[in-house]
Amino acid sequence: MTIPFIDLAAQQARIRDKIDARIAAVLDHGKYILGPEVAELEAALAAFCGVKNVVACANGTDALQLALMALGVGEGDAVFCPSFTFAATAEVVPLVGATPVFVDIDPDSFNMDPASLKRAIAHAREQGLKPSVVIPVDLFGLPADYDALEPIAEAEGLKMLCDSAQGFGARYGNRVTGSIGDVATTSFFPAKPLGCYGDGGAVFTNDDALAALLRSYRMHGQGTDKYDNVRIGLNSRLDSLQAAILLEKLAIYPEEIELRQEVANRYAAGLADVLDVPVVPEGQVSVWAQYTVRTREGQDRGAIMAALKDQGVPSVIYYPNPLHRQTAYAGFPADPAGLPATDEAAARVFSLPMHPYLDADTQGTIIEAVRKAVG
Ligand SMILES: *Cc1c(COP(=O)(O)O)cnc(C)c1O
Repeated sequence: MTIPFIDLAAQQARIRDKIDARIAAVLDHGKYILGPEVAELEAALAAFCGVKNVVACANGTDALQLALMALGVGEGDAVFCPSFTFAATAEVVPLVGATPVFVDIDPDSFNMDPASLKRAIAHAREQGLKPSVVIPVDLFGLPADYDALEPIAEAEGLKMLCDSAQGFGARYGNRVTGSIGDVATTSFFPAKPLGCYGDGGAVFTNDDALAALLRSYRMHGQGTDKYDNVRIGLNSRLDSLQAAILLEKLAIYPEEIELRQEVANRYAAGLADVLDVPVVPEGQVSVWAQYTVRTREGQDRGAIMAALKDQGVPSVIYYPNPLHRQTAYAGFPADPAGLPATDEAAARVFSLPMHPYLDADTQGTIIEAVRKAVG
């Protein structure tokens, strides 16, 4: 038996009839680009996270780029982001002409370290850059430490762009990600907690003027009509088919978030004595994009993962090579104190199978395999 790392088929089996009906409706009306399902999805997402405006787009990377464009970020601007993240978070920054500045993480949450952000801001100023935007990432589904980050952004005059590609729908106190920050983004890549059957993304903001800019930028910078282009934009729209599929997936998403938490609880109960397991701080809810554990002193990650593979249990390292160590990004500035927690996480983490339909029996097999592998 091979255990899937993420099982999208179980979810599909559950809602296949509804998805088929939604797809049939799109084929019947034939409005494939920005059809009625897109507006319906934007409204449903806005209601879900409690934000005024949602602008759907082609993918989570474009969502980040559209947000930076709408914020007016460009040459000379410093944009602060973690190095321990998927490349897209930093990639969009040089694409708009600005400079990414890498910030370390908190070793327990894997999210942006506020003290490191402060050092990085001072460093950027010394380099002659203008601190403009901070991009906290809700890594592995857990919200960033917004109570600590927001006052820094406020004091330093930074806009906050929350990369919630992995964390859409997570809770931070009484707020839901998507509604946090000046602007937030997510991805609907199939393997994300809320995924479609292709590429998709969305941008969220309470600022109506910013939302109008986002709508223009996603449509070639259009002005009053399609053939009036007032700015340089992108072609970054969400297909009606993807929106149709997402509407059915969003309907069961709250329940799936609870199921993910049950899976996380079972892992913690079965593994906390042998590995460092993730902890969700009081008052927060993770959507568990990944269940990421950390090896302890003296444990050999490579040997553990190889032993798991031999027992038919997949595991993956997110992320083995932090961005500041990669060819394309090594030349950009970083916290002058270094990024020790980032390097340490990259050397120690690995992620275990996680999805809402991981049943207790299969998970018991995984837990036993991990315990055996750790020895
Ligand atoms: C997946 C991901 C993105 C990019 O999303 P795409 O839809 O694949 O473009 C951006 N940031 C983070 C943190 C991600 O995990």
